[in-house]
Amino acid sequence: SIPLGFFGGIGAASRNGILVKGSNYLEALNDVKVVVFDKTGTLTKGVFKVTSVHPEGTRTEDELMKLAAIAEANSNHPIAESIRAAWAKDIPAQGVDGYDEVAGHGIKVKVNGQEVLAGNAKLMEQAGIMYTKPQTVGTVVHVAEAGEYVGHLIIADEVKEDAASAIEALKQLGIRKTVMLTGDAKAVGEAVARQLGVDEVHAELLPQDKVERLEQLEQKKLPKEKMIFVGDGINDTPVLARADVGVAMGGLGSDAAIEAADVVIMTDEPSRIASAIRIAKRTRRIVW
Ligand code: ADP
Ligand code: MG
Repeated sequence: SIPLGFFGGIGAASRNGILVKGSNYLEALNDVKVVVFDKTGTLTKGVFKVTSVHPEGTRTEDELMKLAAIAEANSNHPIAESIRAAWAKDIPAQGVDGYDEVAGHGIKVKVNGQEVLAGNAKLMEQAGIMYTKPQTVGTVVHVAEAGEYVGHLIIADEVKEDAASAIEALKQLGIRKTVMLTGDAKAVGEAVARQLGVDEVHAELLPQDKVERLEQLEQKKLPKEKMIFVGDGINDTPVLARADVGVAMGGLGSDAAIEAADVVIMTDEPSRIASAIRIAKRTRRIVW
């Protein structure tokens, strides 16, 4: 049977916007020593804005933006949403087919029979396309058409208001290590980690690499220690399922992520992780 105090703990959590799916997870939160975060949508707002447009060759800014908008017309990724918002015009659907979203890379699509690519450096490298390395720090979306480089867009995301204090609060609670896993470029990941005081960062990861990294981190901790993974669930449902306690952002997060998670943060605030641990500690004192 479940000690009554746990119901109190789960209730206290829910009043704080934290949905805990079982008393075992509340109990596990007591022993958390390592907290692993996804970046986009978890520590950052996941609300990207196109900050600059860099066409190459004879292309105009408008041509580059239009091609990017066509490629990103059907993606749910926050990057795609920012490109559609920046384009702010109708996106032609005629002559578009063979849509293929490559996780951790970007989009491949056929436009009037020509292959259009929109995504990161890895996507360009796979296709053997020479691209310009931008000077600014930011998420880059490179665009190519029919094997030819068309230019790139710089997209910026902002850290959440409470992200730095969330990391600080975890340290106060005796969390030994904070880690950030991201599919984004190394320079972007390191800049965010430095800004927030995150101890360790692993960048340029594919969704399957994130599971592998989590397993490596798992092997480095003591058997009694628990590790939690916090994600928004766009591409990281397998990691949520793999962690001792998988925590999903409930607002921005996908339904699949909310389903796979053990704990759901309804307000999308990373500082609620520390609140959940505090509630778990209080509950243990009452129960035992
Ligand atoms: P994160 O770990 O930051 O949440 P994702 O795994 O969702 O990242 O994506 C990793 C990287 O893959 C992005 O930073 C971006 O470079 C690229 N990418 C993913 N989806 C898209 C898309 N729809 N358009 C362009 N680039 C994309
Ligand atoms: Mg993400």
